[in-house]
Amino acid sequence: MPSELSQAKAALRQQLLADRMLGLKSVPIVPPAPRPVHVEAGKARTDDGPSTKEKAESLKGLDDTQVKVCTKCSLAQTRTHTVFGQGHPAARLVFVGEAPGFEEDRQGLAFVGRAGQLLTRMVAAMGLTRDEVFICNVLKCRPPGNRDPAADEILACGPYLMEQLQIIQPEVLVALGAPAAKTLLNTAQSIGKLRGRFHEYYPSGMEGFGPSIPLMPTYHPAYLLRNPSEKAKAWEDLQMVMDLLGLQRPNKTR
Ligand code: SF4
Repeated sequence: MPSELSQAKAALRQQLLADRMLGLKSVPIVPPAPRPVHVEAGKARTDDGPSTKEKAESLKGLDDTQVKVCTKCSLAQTRTHTVFGQGHPAARLVFVGEAPGFEEDRQGLAFVGRAGQLLTRMVAAMGLTRDEVFICNVLKCRPPGNRDPAADEILACGPYLMEQLQIIQPEVLVALGAPAAKTLLNTAQSIGKLRGRFHEYYPSGMEGFGPSIPLMPTYHPAYLLRNPSEKAKAWEDLQMVMDLLGLQRPNKTR
């Protein structure tokens, strides 16, 4: 069972998310977690925060005790499995999509359908494997017919994503598609306007308060499957992420 503290934190984050959706600026009560200290870009980080094992346990605890048994919105009635997300518990890079699709709901894993296979190739093009990053969605249950997430569903499920990011403490986020970008950035701008430059995601839930994480919005792999001519733009976005992480671009010489 979740502790009273974690329940209080979850309630606070839910309130903050609701305030953000309504455009309100709340006064912070719980200070955000300190940003980990990183060593030289491109190398493993050495912060004094929780170990990878502790992060893995925290993520598992969140999944087992809260997400897997969650009935906070109506999607609980139509899901086959919850989809928590998977990857490295201390990943430097986290990809966030909008919601599980048919195959993800069937398997209980994030991004394993056709779009997921394209994402795997995009990650590989960056010189990484899926085990080195973390991949998840805003919603943990599939909306019927793969419709867009509803506002009340994002409000109900958003705190789980915020908790995941608090635990993992990535250095960079990639928002895949408009729903993820709009949720994390609290904006109504289109993905076409947002992509191509870094924005700031505030784990505190309040823009401008506390440390932020650079966030690159880009096209969702499902959109890229329907519009392959846009792949070049997505690759431009991912190369900027590589630069920020200190990863070598494939077309650059050392
Ligand atoms: S979508 Fe999120 S809030 Fe809704 S039932 Fe699933 S886990 Fe709970």
